[in-house]
Amino acid sequence: MSHVFHRNLHQDYPTAVQGDGPYIVDREGRRYLDASGGAAVSCLGHSDEAVAQAIKDQVSRLAYAHTSFFTSEPMEQLADFLIERAPAGLDSVYFVSGGSEAVEAALKLARQYFVEIGQPQRKHLIARRQSYHGNTLGALATGGNAWRRQQFEPLLINVSHVSPCYAYRDQQPDETPEAMGVRLAAELEAEILRLGGENVMAFVAEPVVGATLGAVTAVPGYFTRIREVCDRYGVLLILDEVMCGMGRTGSLFAAEQEGVTADLITIAKGLGAGYQPIGATLVSQRIRDAIANGSGFFQHGHTYIGHATACAAALAVQQAIESRDLLTRVNVLGEGLQARLGERFANHPHIGDIRGRGLFQGLELVADRDSKRPFDPALKLHARLKKAAMAEGLMCYPMGGTLDGRQGDHILLAPPFMLEGSHLDEITDRLGRAIDTTLASL
Ligand code: PLP
Repeated sequence: MSHVFHRNLHQDYPTAVQGDGPYIVDREGRRYLDASGGAAVSCLGHSDEAVAQAIKDQVSRLAYAHTSFFTSEPMEQLADFLIERAPAGLDSVYFVSGGSEAVEAALKLARQYFVEIGQPQRKHLIARRQSYHGNTLGALATGGNAWRRQQFEPLLINVSHVSPCYAYRDQQPDETPEAMGVRLAAELEAEILRLGGENVMAFVAEPVVGATLGAVTAVPGYFTRIREVCDRYGVLLILDEVMCGMGRTGSLFAAEQEGVTADLITIAKGLGAGYQPIGATLVSQRIRDAIANGSGFFQHGHTYIGHATACAAALAVQQAIESRDLLTRVNVLGEGLQARLGERFANHPHIGDIRGRGLFQGLELVADRDSKRPFDPALKLHARLKKAAMAEGLMCYPMGGTLDGRQGDHILLAPPFMLEGSHLDEITDRLGRAIDTTLASL
């Protein structure tokens, strides 16, 4: 028996031994096509030589230098690279080791900003139901996914949750997408007023919702309205791009496609593409200035922040994406994937919705398409789908529906940006077989 403490203690996991482009090979020699990038991480596949070389070079030169003593060249270069390409207003980067840490840093930066500018009463956070912002306690409290929160509720800080922007289920019969955005912005405003506009610190949202809804984009204009509401009450806007950022949806930052600026943006996953653990919080000039001109010290930190080797890996990843013009490829492949999913599943009796942007696509499964009734959660359809997909040699990312039964199981696809067209056929074929054999076994 292995001594590894796996998340699922009742499951046997294959032992991954090698990466080969978009495939992972296990100890028995079985090959798995990575159609989900793990969890939207591996945007360059699993055997990128340029990134491997950059890591080797950095480790040989300087693996790590603690940030209370030093900065490092790769950290400085990566910060410059990101800020040169970031949405307007962001001017510095706080490097961490993953997505949850990036969210925690964003929350503490927001809080410290208000302390520094003399508004210490601002402590309330608002986020959305059906969101995921990480598993550390602050990030878990921010997320609005009941299943993940349930047993830890007593440990979580109090966060308000408003409706997600989830048109497939929540757009009213006579409502335009624009009107839906206006309605949801009014809901946010009502919650801010209930808490007292002067008491609210920040609103947190994923521009494209990943893990909890499966690649759900907002309706046009939603984020513009949200930004207006935040500005009206001096509330900071934190966009969590840990999953949807770094090119996944076809632009380096997902916020670019919403036409909004954020006060803080969190990134991780695709930043280092899995070659090293790394995340970051991009910080607006006004927050940085408030702290710089105030106490001058951000009261936070972890041992591995700004890790030199992780920064060197991420810089090599981002340079590869740019020099190989992979964002264009994300858009072209994204359209190809969407078209194939449409051909294969648009008339499938149990696929209620196909959605997404770029190489970030989701399918929602329903027991009945007309009523959009989800499958019984007790069936654990998502777990069966994952098993069936792995048996087909396919990695995809299925998740269960909501505890209140308002949403069905979904499958998230987030493959590497360097696929060939033939891989898209392979994904659709294998996924189709996995879905059909799973449904036939119910
Ligand atoms: N935020 C979002 C939007 C995520 O999707 C995730 C992970 O899936 C996180 C934060 C947490 O990131 P990590 O798992 O790297 O801690």
